[in-house]
Formats: sequence, structure tokens, C-alpha cells
Amino acid sequence: MNMFGRKYYINPETLRFEERNLTLKKQLRNSLVLGSGLLILALVMRVGYEQYAKSPRLVYYENINNELRSEYKILNKSIQLDEMRLAELERRDDRFYRSIFGIEPLAPSIREAGTGGSPRYSALQSISNPDMIIDVSIKLDKVSNKARIQSASFEDIEELAERNLKLLACKPSIQPISPEDRYWMTSTFGYRTDPFNKRRTFHRGIDLAGPYGLDIYATGEGVVISAEYNTHGYGREVVIDHGFGYKSRYAHLQKINVEKGDKVKRGQVIGKLGSTGRSTGPHLHYEIHFNRKSINPLYCFYEDITPREFKIISDRAAQP
Ligand SMILES: [Zn+2]
Repeated sequence: MNMFGRKYYINPETLRFEERNLTLKKQLRNSLVLGSGLLILALVMRVGYEQYAKSPRLVYYENINNELRSEYKILNKSIQLDEMRLAELERRDDRFYRSIFGIEPLAPSIREAGTGGSPRYSALQSISNPDMIIDVSIKLDKVSNKARIQSASFEDIEELAERNLKLLACKPSIQPISPEDRYWMTSTFGYRTDPFNKRRTFHRGIDLAGPYGLDIYATGEGVVISAEYNTHGYGREVVIDHGFGYKSRYAHLQKINVEKGDKVKRGQVIGKLGSTGRSTGPHLHYEIHFNRKSINPLYCFYEDITPREFKIISDRAAQP
């Protein structure tokens, strides 16, 4: 049998095609070539494996590294979002909240205070690839510092808002007699001729004349510090301490409805109009003190009355 130029025959013992003319020498040479070929292939594979293939440990660390890298990216994104939210809060703080209470916006130097190059970042330099970590650390520090300053600013504002609310409740700011009741001003605040000795003296309040027994109202929240007969001319009087430096006096009362130490609300009836003490007829002498100085009570009416009403009261004062 002739196949590819070689002679084959069927071996009767093995029943296989076999090359007829293979000598022992030829067979030996073939084996050697095959053997050394396999050896070279094994060596090449070994070197190649060591050169290019990754050890399981390396693969493990690379995976962790990739995870950290993507976590860092997420962290960076969230810091950026926080920075944006904070910037919006700062803007609102300066533009609205602080301006409502008339406080200066926080200077940028204060908002940025305590951030920037700090020696503690140098400790991170020893870590391989430190830029990424230092970058995040600086950003985090800045954000948390700004947040701290912002929250302190909000606390200031909250305190001021509470104080303002309290002040609004306490400050004498309504008329001590209801505008519904008929009354007229017989004496204004300032220098006048005293009705008793006809001397020019300073009148520390306003006189509101009306019928006996008219309800007299507390003009702001506070504590009654006097509710008795005053022997210096005020007659039966009530004095209320409103805090914040404000006090109010209601003099010449016919009747007193409160006691010393009572807490009173704005609009609460504290007594009845009368003519006790140094008085020429039924009227209320009303004073407001601010920081131990008497001020014109009319200026405190404006929160309660319209300009038209203000004019009516002023006109009434001009009447004889
Ligand atoms: Zn008076």
C-alpha cells in the first residue's frame, strides 16, 4: 500500500497500518526531536506564565483596588453634592436669614476659616498614591468645617429670632385704652405748663382722658412690679416690667385689677380709668420707659394703629 509516498502494510499481529521501512535509528531520531520539542515548549510556557499570568494574590488586590477607586469616585461625587447644598445654605443664610435680623453676612474668610494646608495631610504622603486620599481628606475637612460654621450661624439666627419674637410679644405696642372707646389726649409727651403750679415742666408720658371706669390694658407682656397707691402724685398705679429695657406705667387709676408679681399678657385688663393722685379730672397718665429713660408712647402706638388713627389721636390732643 502506498500512502503519501511512504510504504505501509497491515501488520497481521496488531491489525494496523504500519510504515514498512522505519529503521530503529530513524525511530530514535524521531523520538529525540519530539522530546526536545516538548521540553522547549514547556520552558517557553513556564517563562511566559511567570511573565504575564497573574497570581491569585495579585488578582485579589487588583480587585480591591478597583473597588476602592470606584468608591472614591462615589465619595467624591457625594462631597461635591454636599458642597453644593452647603453653598446654597450659605447663600440663603447671607441673603435672607442674616439680613432679616440686620446682621452682616459672614465674611468669606470666616466661612473658609480653618481649612487649607494642614500638617496632618503630610502624614498621608507616606501612603503610595497619596494624592487621591489627601484630595478627599481636604475636601471632607472643608465641607465639615463649613457645615460647623453654618450651623453656628443658624444657631445665632435662631437665638435672634426667638429673642425678636419675645421682644415683639413684650414691647409695649398697643394703646392702653381700646380705640373703640371714646377718649382723647389731653397732654402730650414733652415740656408743658404744669396744670397745678403753672410752671414749665417735662411731662414724661401722655394723658388720655375718658369716662371713669374705662378698661385699661397692658400694652405688652411682662411682670407687674408695682400695683399700689403712689404717693408722688401718680395715685393708684400699675407698673409693668416688659424686659428688654422696657417698662410701662398706668397712673391715676380708679381700680387696680392685678397684684405685684403677676405675669400679664398684652391686652389684659389691669385696671379702670380714674382720677386718683395729682389729677384734675378722669384720665390715664401713660408712660413708657426704655433703658431708664422715658420715651414718647405715641411712637409705640404705630404698630397698633393706622396713620389715619394716629392723626385722629394727634388732632384730639390739639383740642382743648
Ligand atoms: Zn400725665
